[in-house]
Amino acid sequence: MELGLIGKTLIHSRSPEIHEELFRLLGEEGHHYTLMEWPEDAIERNLELLYREGFTGINVTIPYKRAVMPYLRRVSDEARSIGAVNTILFKGDGMYGYNTDYTGFGKTLESMGEDVSGERCVVLGTGGAARAVIQYLADAGAAEIAVASRHPEHVDQKFQSFLDGVGALMISYAELDSGGSGAGDRPVSAARLLVNCTPVGMFPKVGIAPVSERVVARFAAVVDLIYNPEETLLLKMAREQRKKTRNGMYMLVAQAMASEEIWRDEEIPEQLVRSVAATMGENKNAETE
Ligand code: NAP
Repeated sequence: MELGLIGKTLIHSRSPEIHEELFRLLGEEGHHYTLMEWPEDAIERNLELLYREGFTGINVTIPYKRAVMPYLRRVSDEARSIGAVNTILFKGDGMYGYNTDYTGFGKTLESMGEDVSGERCVVLGTGGAARAVIQYLADAGAAEIAVASRHPEHVDQKFQSFLDGVGALMISYAELDSGGSGAGDRPVSAARLLVNCTPVGMFPKVGIAPVSERVVARFAAVVDLIYNPEETLLLKMAREQRKKTRNGMYMLVAQAMASEEIWRDEEIPEQLVRSVAATMGENKNAETE
């Protein structure tokens, strides 16, 4: 298979390492996962070139997750709702788009034994990763989803429509910290799951957390999408309070494996996902995206 990643600046990408580890574990040779840095004005032409060259599929990263969408024959429901495609499958009759950040987050929760159906959840941040997480939580039947922003009153109209569509509510960090208020009063006072979708705590600014220990205390489980460092200050606080925790490396690997499932049209056993994630965790000194 000819595979790869398109984006603008890919020098720190760990994606080739992840896919090559899967090929190694499966004993497969002859697959290639190529990094391709494209200028903004060449997306359509280059996609057609890969299609003609017989590529099986590609991943898409910043800033092209939305820009590729007009050129696709079909976009999956979750990718359309999230407004971003990170995986493309080249088929006989055209290009198909998917969002495996969504699937990767779901697999992360599964790996923790977390079922959010009927539960209250809080998501920190309003960027692209947050949208995939919020959509997954809504589809998985979360009872309430509160989304914290530094400027909840100035959130853009598109994002507000997205929140309205999935029935999530916007809150401020002050409301989250005081444990009340927001439109419903209840979601922030006690909840099942806290997900950090902000870059706060990421290398090199590792000594900070997006919320206080007091906020962490209200949750049963904490997921941080950051994978460098392996344990952020937020996850350290959660571990010390004996919460269930997971960092972003599992999600990064799980979204890559979900892309492989689409390209191969077959399931990858969870044990393999865990093995790749373990290897990637061991190589934690590698540079990151
Ligand atoms: P993004 O588009 O830059 O969004 C981050 C959001 O975080 C912003 O919308 C902003 O929300 C909030 N934010 C930014 N700086 C902040 C600060 N200093 N303090 C508090 N909040 C801040 O980023 P993204 O692409 O969504 O990614 C978010 C994080 O997830 C990154 O750390 C990224 O590396 C990680 N990620 C991991 C995976 C994985 O597979 N593990 C996948 C995707 C992303 P407000 O302005 O509304 O507060």
